[in-house]
Amino acid sequence: MSKKEPANVGVAIMAEINRYKCKLCGYIYSPLRGEPHNGIPAGTPFEDLPETYVCPICGMEGKGKIGKWGFDEWVPTKFVCSVCGYVYDQNRGEPHRGIKAGTPFSKLPDDYRCPVCNLDPKIKKEFGPVGTNGFEPLYV
Ligand code: FE
Repeated sequence: MSKKEPANVGVAIMAEINRYKCKLCGYIYSPLRGEPHNGIPAGTPFEDLPETYVCPICGMEGKGKIGKWGFDEWVPTKFVCSVCGYVYDQNRGEPHRGIKAGTPFSKLPDDYRCPVCNLDPKIKKEFGPVGTNGFEPLYV
């Protein structure tokens, strides 16, 4: 498992997390990560960022001081399996497995299993079944 996000963050909780994307550079602010290197601890909601907040990418690259006003709410549509790297893409779904195109990750069935890990006996033996809690959002 990657250590980028707490392991106990389930789909139900993730659905309530409000991420924001910089309209200029595409940087995504996630309250799960925060920006500890900028003094913003993980767990800080976007709404609670100081009014002086500046997009760290635009700020660093000299594109200008893009503040909170330059961000739009953003919802991930792709999730990557942290065991094997398989990407669930909401736009594609998994029609061959009965999951229609357009199905959000948060609406996957409780017994959803990573289709790649599920076919690999070695992975099964080492990690057990890899469900949705083995995935994390792709910030693209
Ligand atoms: Fe997998």
